[in-house]
Amino acid sequence: MQIERQARVAVVGAGFAGLMAARALAQAGADVVVIEARDRVGGRVYTRRTTSGVALDMGAHWIGPTQRRLAALAQELGVAATKTYNTGRNVYYHGGVRSLYDGAIPIGDPAVAAEVVQATLTLSLMATEVPLDAPWNAPNAAEWDAQTCASWLGANVSSQEARNLLTLGIQAIFSAEPRDLSLLHVLFYTHSGGGLMDLLNVAGGAQESGFVGGAQQIAKRMAADLGERVILDTPVRAIEQDERGVRALGDTLTVSAERAIIALPPTLAGRLRYTPALPGARDQLTQRMPMGTVIKVQCVYPTPFWRDEGLTGQASSDSGAVRITFDMTPDQGAPGVLLGFIEGDKGRAWGRRSLEDRQAAVVDCFARYFGEQARQPLEYIEFSWAEEEFTRGCYAGYMPPGVWTTFGEALRAPIGRLHWAGTETATVWNGYMDGALQSGERAAREVMGALT
Ligand SMILES: Cc1cc2nc3c(=O)[nH]c(=O)nc-3n(C[C@H](O)[C@H](O)[C@H](O)COP(=O)(O)OP(=O)(O)OC[C@H]3O[C@@H](n4cnc5c(N)ncnc54)[C@H](O)[C@@H]3O)c2cc1C
Repeated sequence: MQIERQARVAVVGAGFAGLMAARALAQAGADVVVIEARDRVGGRVYTRRTTSGVALDMGAHWIGPTQRRLAALAQELGVAATKTYNTGRNVYYHGGVRSLYDGAIPIGDPAVAAEVVQATLTLSLMATEVPLDAPWNAPNAAEWDAQTCASWLGANVSSQEARNLLTLGIQAIFSAEPRDLSLLHVLFYTHSGGGLMDLLNVAGGAQESGFVGGAQQIAKRMAADLGERVILDTPVRAIEQDERGVRALGDTLTVSAERAIIALPPTLAGRLRYTPALPGARDQLTQRMPMGTVIKVQCVYPTPFWRDEGLTGQASSDSGAVRITFDMTPDQGAPGVLLGFIEGDKGRAWGRRSLEDRQAAVVDCFARYFGEQARQPLEYIEFSWAEEEFTRGCYAGYMPPGVWTTFGEALRAPIGRLHWAGTETATVWNGYMDGALQSGERAAREVMGALT
């Protein structure tokens, strides 16, 4: 039996974007219903507890200093932020040799470091030429969208080690390979976050702080405020619209409304069946925005033993499954938690292997970077976002070459009664929680303007 529900606005997806849109609409007095496929809210923000009760984020965790929307919301909802542990030296593992360094860029060979700094500055400068609301209007849009980030690195960075380091940075930001990404997209994304170092840094950058008790609390508190307006366990399968209104259809529920906000990554929005069918440009856009690939892995130890050796817990490596690590130990100082990312091609390859193989490979990497004590975790926790039906990969959807300039205008443009939200549609901090919130606010404004 199909249950019918009426609202003025239907929001599909209870990630940060959908919840923020609904929050803004509810605060403006509009009757809104949020329909969520999973049995939980938060989407790509998901906190689990270890067996000893420590909250660990499987998805998004960090907030940077210029992510003001997220900071304001967290404060309003009473979710505290705490600085990422960043005291001591970082590990650089290169060519099988481990060394230590300070700051953001491993400086072994000064010529390599100079090339990395130069390329970072050049890309950040080029990025400022990309209009955030219309990247296809950048003066060099056609040229930049016709090449990948890898071809730019190949043509502009001469040393292999510098290229490897920059590749590591790109993998860490996009969980995709430089060859997958349009150069124009890399520049847009860089501008949207304020500059490459803003995206990469801990101090002063996107990894500066995390949320005590996990970032999903923010979603849970937004959902608690919305109360019965949020409906879980209901994948929307189809959207129908006509002159009378719009209907979001799940297997057992139909929500009828005047307007709908689809707050999904484009590739998931493309899986819904639309009646009437969407214009080709929108449909073809959603065929061309894949998600990155990341497996987030965490090992729990009795103590953060690396701190005793003056290490931050941050490592950068040119080999192994895990090439980037962080210290995720909770504020009280125990248990010790090391976090690693298996990203891009490594995520694709290791995702096909067994859990046991992955755990062995991860522990091997941690031991190479932080010593033999890393071989004995109390607990190994991993989360592979490519395996998630209602996410399909992470951190975000990205543009391969040619997509921004050919289909970019279809990313946010409403179609009839349908409005698009989700971090992929953000102009500021695209791909991040802050961008998701911005997109939700923008979609809510559009709908408020359109409601009769
Ligand atoms: C491992 C990882 C680490 C990250 N780290 C950070 C970080 O440190 N800082 C940061 O700011 N960002 C980070 N991000 C990115 C951040 O999580 C996202 O930018 C943000 O959460 C996206 O929110 P959203 O609402 O746009 O999309 P989503 O969170 O994907 O929300 C979409 C919602 O729609 C639901 N849904 C899907 N299909 C349907 C359907 N058919 N019907 C109904 N509902 C449906 C989904 O279940 C989901 O709840 C990270 C992401 C991952 C995965």
